[in-house]
Amino acid sequence: MPGTTRTQVVPIPVLGRHAVNAHLLLGRRPVLVDSGIPGSGRRVLDRIAAHGVDPAELALIVITHGHIDHFGSAAEIHRLTGAPVAAHVADLGPYRSGRAREPYLPNGPMGRLMARRRELHVRAQPFEPGLPVTGETDLADFGLDARIVPTPGHTAGSVSVLTGDGELVAGDLIANSFMGLLPGRPANPPFHDDARQNLASLRRMLALSPTRLHVGHGPALAPERVRRWAEREDARLTRLERSGRLRTRTD
Ligand SMILES: [Zn+2]
Ligand SMILES: [Zn+2]
Repeated sequence: MPGTTRTQVVPIPVLGRHAVNAHLLLGRRPVLVDSGIPGSGRRVLDRIAAHGVDPAELALIVITHGHIDHFGSAAEIHRLTGAPVAAHVADLGPYRSGRAREPYLPNGPMGRLMARRRELHVRAQPFEPGLPVTGETDLADFGLDARIVPTPGHTAGSVSVLTGDGELVAGDLIANSFMGLLPGRPANPPFHDDARQNLASLRRMLALSPTRLHVGHGPALAPERVRRWAEREDARLTRLERSGRLRTRTD
């Protein structure tokens, strides 16, 4: 019966131990969230197989947003498995061109450093979502007690996946400090297109009382720590706004 199967969330490391993660969601059927940087397809499928799941059985590939470390291998994994790709229409530009919107808008020194890294400016294979997301999307038809929830701000088309048990797969809504080098400590990812809107999305998800936040960079985060971080981030953004230093993407 839909709604009664527990969903297990399994991190699938794409780079390092948890510098960049995809996630495998196991309900009645397996669903993959995110795909890693370009050329990660085989590695991701090997890791899925290592969890006893035949990659050919993937019901769906959900892409959280239009950054290259999340959608870079979507076309390849789609081709290898035949699973349809779900992604929000507000990031169709990056999905159709294979390039993230540039320039990246750094959140701080880490972002300014990261923005220079070549691998963030490469072109991925473009794809067209077979399941274009425009609002909350129930995944019962794909064998999962979970739903896709739009959480814009990091990019306009950012989405999260919330399971019936309250596990939140949050993409880059929040990250670990230094991409996981300080595990368990919440921090902004290096870039946000709209940091204020991202914080509003994060708070909307925290209000749903998630049990854990699974993120693209670093291990899962405890909601209580993320809540305290959100208070500090609110104060930081207010200071930036008052001094006119908060940049937001307008295109
Ligand atoms: Zn991102
Ligand atoms: Zn990322």
